[in-house]
Amino acid sequence: MKDLKKIIADKLKFGEYVGLYCYGIYASHILYYLEKFHNVLPTVIIDNDVSKKGKAEFDIPVMPFMESKKLYPNLQYFICSDDFKYTIIADMINNGIKPENIINYVLVEKRKTCLYFENRLLPLFSALEDKSQMISHCNADSFKADVLITKIPYFDEGYSEFSDILQKRANDFYNDKIELCKTCVLNHEQNIVAKEYKNKYQQLCFYQQTCADCVVHCKYCCVGGADKNVKSKPIFRLDYIDLYNKFIDEIIKQGSLSDDFNCAIDLSERYLEEKIKFVVDSIERNHLLPMVYKINSCLLTYSETLANLLKNGMAYIIWSLDAGTRETYHKIKQVDGFNTVIDNVKKLISIDAFNGRFIVPKYVITKDINDNEKEFNEFIKLTVDLGLKFVSLSFDFKTKADEKDNAFIRSCYKKIIENGLQLTYKNNSIAVTRALSMNSILEQEK
Ligand code: SF4
Repeated sequence: MKDLKKIIADKLKFGEYVGLYCYGIYASHILYYLEKFHNVLPTVIIDNDVSKKGKAEFDIPVMPFMESKKLYPNLQYFICSDDFKYTIIADMINNGIKPENIINYVLVEKRKTCLYFENRLLPLFSALEDKSQMISHCNADSFKADVLITKIPYFDEGYSEFSDILQKRANDFYNDKIELCKTCVLNHEQNIVAKEYKNKYQQLCFYQQTCADCVVHCKYCCVGGADKNVKSKPIFRLDYIDLYNKFIDEIIKQGSLSDDFNCAIDLSERYLEEKIKFVVDSIERNHLLPMVYKINSCLLTYSETLANLLKNGMAYIIWSLDAGTRETYHKIKQVDGFNTVIDNVKKLISIDAFNGRFIVPKYVITKDINDNEKEFNEFIKLTVDLGLKFVSLSFDFKTKADEKDNAFIRSCYKKIIENGLQLTYKNNSIAVTRALSMNSILEQEK
């Protein structure tokens, strides 16, 4: 597998021009990586959002695509977006950019399909006695164990029928045989990786099937984990690790990951170190090179493997925090873990190659617990005191946001901006995206 970050660095060392397209946390992470580990910087960052125009880190200019195209006729592009990659490629090709000038080019086409179904590879790990494992197809509903899951049976030699079964499932999808997808709003006409393109998966995801096997009990948990009385059922069995290894090796053997794939880990917190180690070992054993590991965690458990990824500049973390004080943390997570979490984060920051810059505290607004200015102010203060840069804002998935909630979301956003912080991962929350898309937020920003 190609080491794309090294390829970009070598181009820059030889005096070629390279632009990173799409200015978010991913581009920022690559920028820091290039500077720290290769001592080079990209020529320009491209983003068509005019509010981002100006300078990025290390004084790199940020400008819209058409401007960069005019200014740097020989520019080569690296697209830093999983969700918009195909649309960006189609747009660039329409504007006369040659495929060989797009470093992470894939063949795209326009057709009716689902982005999640096409570009996420999502193995799930079971504890079933028959040793079968599963592939989930629906990223949108990946927390619901019964949604769009394909069982892969175990034979003496392993999971050898993996690719045939997956192909059959894909055919069902293309032939509109999957009821759930028929009416789903995410199944629509869009630019997507072409059907015949082999290395199509942009993300290899290791997600939990349920939060019930966790060490915290977030009040907003949508799959029963909030109920402290529910006895958790460990789904990820440590004594099955050899089986899981066989399963993941079979998946990787198909060679369907794209060269610039990234590895997402969102596994519940029990045995967190063992789980992250299992993922990283699998990736390394198969000589894969993800652009980055995207990890979701509340960081109540300290993981040496995670610390090591940070040390090597290989990860960013969405840190589920939801509070700025010990009392509120206790109320929302239902465990008194605030001090432990802060100690863990401080330790990770001290090890991290980028001093914690890519540890992103997340705040899920939950009614009557943390939806007040005082708590959010404390959250922001803590973020600033820890020297962090990005934050993520979300809204209780089970509750519909009303006008008062929208106003609170906008006020949170204003505080984020005023404190020189940057919002990321807002697309995870419909309520936040809607509230912030309103004209009023643009007026407030002026
Ligand atoms: S239900 Fe929707 S999001 Fe899920 S796989 Fe089908 S089309 Fe995609």
